[in-house]
Amino acid sequence: MATRVHGRPLAYLDNAATTHRPRAVLDAMDGFSRTSNANVHRGVHRLSQVATDAFEAARETVRISIGASEAAEVVFTKGCTEAINLVAQSWGTANLREGDEVLLSTMEHHANIVPWQVVAKATGARIRPIPIHDDGTLDLSALDTMLGPKTRLVGIAHVSNSLGTINPVEEVARLARSAGAKVLVDGAQALAHLPVDVRALGVDFYAMSGHKMYGPMGVGGLYARRELLEEMPPYQTGGGMIRTVTFEETTYAGVPDRFEPGTPNVAGVIGWAAAFEFLAGLDRKAVQHHEDDLLALASELIGSQPGVHVLGPIPSSRAAVVSFVMDGIHPHDIGTVLDQEGVAIRAGHHCCMPLMARLGVSGTARASLALYNTGEEVHALAKGLARVREVMT
Ligand code: PMP
Repeated sequence: MATRVHGRPLAYLDNAATTHRPRAVLDAMDGFSRTSNANVHRGVHRLSQVATDAFEAARETVRISIGASEAAEVVFTKGCTEAINLVAQSWGTANLREGDEVLLSTMEHHANIVPWQVVAKATGARIRPIPIHDDGTLDLSALDTMLGPKTRLVGIAHVSNSLGTINPVEEVARLARSAGAKVLVDGAQALAHLPVDVRALGVDFYAMSGHKMYGPMGVGGLYARRELLEEMPPYQTGGGMIRTVTFEETTYAGVPDRFEPGTPNVAGVIGWAAAFEFLAGLDRKAVQHHEDDLLALASELIGSQPGVHVLGPIPSSRAAVVSFVMDGIHPHDIGTVLDQEGVAIRAGHHCCMPLMARLGVSGTARASLALYNTGEEVHALAKGLARVREVMT
């Protein structure tokens, strides 16, 4: 990477927080802003039509990329957080009743916990955490026992942002649906690493984030099956989502417009679609191979250091994340010393406080990899950890 920090070439290993964007994404956004900038769905004039066509073409790109049946099943949001809030507020408020249960895995990001807590409080529903094993994998048999007539929804991360655990979403969806429950998958960390086919996975809702998969910040989306969207009330309201308005009454537009009030992030949506196209243009098997090699190398180089403990499952059940703790050294100190060495990692609870509590740590140091990372950068991290020990002990 050309960027230098503290006089050293930056090894950016914080890709689970956000990824960098390829030229194709930057060019797509820039091209829209320079030549086609107009508001969508409102104008009769030519430029507005061009912008609308580009916006809807982006929706179709997302649809194809995730295997949805139709473009109307893709709702654009400002990110994964907003997508989950949409489901919780709209579907949750309309469907949850006193005594109903929402099952969420212990490794969920706060974005897939707090929105459900808010709705649970308002409806009298109950949130029950699905346990995990000590190695950070989901306890499927516990889930099986927890599922019952009161279960209305199971929420699960496709890939854990803290540990990299790849969850068996297809199996979770099968179990949940046979109990009559809906399944929401937090896909924020999956799309950069795994091909995703929402129909093959058998899920009802799949929440996505642009900036975790080489796209821009402030954009993402929700996949939801049409029949669910059709029944869901609006989440946010305003212009662009109505059919008719009088001061007495408003009728709403169909899907997905009903869930997209206001001016959307059109350049962002176009950039996000370009990120999907960028990934589709790569040999995904080769990318996966590269990331697996880096992950194995990082796990080995980090895990073999004295006093260092890697958390989470074995690398083959993990996607591109190495979360670790060092005896007697706070994760923030690890991150600070590594920064001085030009290595960017994340330190803290990673917005997964219940998971940290389950693992018995206040936080971890987390290196997260992307397709552009190199073995050299992983070696820089390992070298940096030796420096951490030197400085901190
Ligand atoms: N879920 C997971 C697993 C995440 O890692 C993140 C981002 N840290 C989010 C949800 C939130 O995504 P966004 O930034 O798109 O709102």
